[in-house]
Amino acid sequence: MSKIEIMNEDLANKIAAGEVVERTMNVVKELVENSIDAKASIIKIELIDSGVKEIKVTDDGIGMDKEDSLLAFSRHATSKLKTLDDLFNINSLGFRGEALPSIASVSNVTLKTSDGKTGTYLRLHGGEIVENKSCDLKKGTTITVTNLFYNTPVRLKYLRSLYTELANISDYVNKMALSYPNIKFILVNNDKELLNTSGNGDLLKTILNVYGMVVASKMLFIEGENDDYHIKGYISYPELTKSNRSSMTLLINNRVVRNNEIIKCILESFHTYIPKDRYPYVVLNIEVDPYLVDVNVHPTKMEVKFSKIASLLSLIEETISKKLSSKTLIPKAIPTNIEDNYYKDNNIVFEVNDNLYDLDPKEKIEREERPHLEEIKFTFEEPVLKDEEGEKEEEFKEDPRIKNMYPVGIVHETYIICENENGMFIIDQHAAAERINYEKYYHALSTHSKNTIDVLIPYKIELPSNEYLVLEKNFAILDRLGFKYEEFGTNTIIIRTHPTWLPKYAPLEAIRKIIDIIVTNEDFDEDKFNEKVSITLACKMSIKAGDAISLEDMTYLINELRKTKNPFTCPHGRPTIIAYTKYDLEKLFKRAM
Ligand code: ZN
Ligand code: ZN
Repeated sequence: MSKIEIMNEDLANKIAAGEVVERTMNVVKELVENSIDAKASIIKIELIDSGVKEIKVTDDGIGMDKEDSLLAFSRHATSKLKTLDDLFNINSLGFRGEALPSIASVSNVTLKTSDGKTGTYLRLHGGEIVENKSCDLKKGTTITVTNLFYNTPVRLKYLRSLYTELANISDYVNKMALSYPNIKFILVNNDKELLNTSGNGDLLKTILNVYGMVVASKMLFIEGENDDYHIKGYISYPELTKSNRSSMTLLINNRVVRNNEIIKCILESFHTYIPKDRYPYVVLNIEVDPYLVDVNVHPTKMEVKFSKIASLLSLIEETISKKLSSKTLIPKAIPTNIEDNYYKDNNIVFEVNDNLYDLDPKEKIEREERPHLEEIKFTFEEPVLKDEEGEKEEEFKEDPRIKNMYPVGIVHETYIICENENGMFIIDQHAAAERINYEKYYHALSTHSKNTIDVLIPYKIELPSNEYLVLEKNFAILDRLGFKYEEFGTNTIIIRTHPTWLPKYAPLEAIRKIIDIIVTNEDFDEDKFNEKVSITLACKMSIKAGDAISLEDMTYLINELRKTKNPFTCPHGRPTIIAYTKYDLEKLFKRAM
């Protein structure tokens, strides 16, 4: 029986196939997905000039008989799908049916296919079959599309630059390779091999093939499950990020999909581990009963909605947070000569497809206003937390993730050099102090610590009238934080009492910062507000780069850092510690080979 059936008109209309062939990327996508549907284990994509001159896709799939191959080029024929309900239930990707005839209508196409019993060769020109003969029986299908858009100069004009088009194709093939680690993908443009995956079913190996050794060596396996969902995949160590989301691959039942809510949730799970506007490497597959998923059918993208999204989001958050909090996340300095040897030793061809440590200079160095020297007392000693009744110091458990280390000196009045038996560590004194203070402020704020201090001389704060109006509306926040204040004349309040956790040496500055956040913030979600206040105060009130500190101060700083929940990054996501292991040092000095 024929494997191809005529799609019903309704479905054909719902799937707006006309948009399919506007770009070479979409042609590649269509052909590759046909190959996957044909159960190929090897798919080779060969392009000339990003596919504008030629796209050739070869697979070793089940192939077609003569009848199917002729039907493939007639409109509304599809072997994969009969109704919309089938979209997510069957293992089918190319549901468009119209795409092959559409592609053929704007190009020259040859098809060579065999199901093992018959071999068929077709040649089409502008959609018309001009040659139809038998050929050899090697199982699989090869489709060659040449002179794409030759008869549609208007469309050709809209083709993006060859480079952009190739980047899109490569991104797409990478994502397909990550969705199908058991299929070997080969992508070649103008005889240059861009991708060649092992196809052995090992996702981490595929990550290595796609992103290179540096990324693959810094991925963490995650897996989690609840009543509705099973998630599984890899996330990168927080030190490894990109400036755009293309590093995040989301799969549902092994199909690449888009869903902003899930992306947002993953980013929130990395919260304060990575800088804002940076994105981790993620390959996450979500296994779910298709009936919980609503697919928005569009030929060029796959948007999904879930009926039990909350359950999925909490599973993702929990799984990622648990993983991150269980790992020692000190980034290792990678001396270049070690890298070189490593790749040579392992015979790995490494293509730099992204500068992995390419923090923008503006992100690298936060603006740090230097306070007056006499004002510098180390805030990390300041907010001693007392619990409500007992007045006893909060007990922090030692973090076993960081071994004790001993300061030996400081470089540029910023970077503390430490050592222990494992190696040499460099700590950024500002980032470290900031992390410590951030967690203390955040803790004080979120536990609604009500310990307050009356000030001898009340602080008078005058605001522009527009800001004062906003503050007036939000006096409740000041109450919640434990301030006692009164309105005093026009646009002015005086503060008589403030919470104890404010830094003792600069309470007025801190109060101004808090009021600033109140009057400029639109989001009054308590958690977010607390976090913003904590980050701002921690940044402003911590020792800065360039502040001279003693060896005792360094020891204190290191010990306090070890007690934090996330000692590895400052609240902005920048690293606090970098490591040179003993082995790295030995390699650098050629003591070890
Ligand atoms: Zn800072
Ligand atoms: Zn910071």
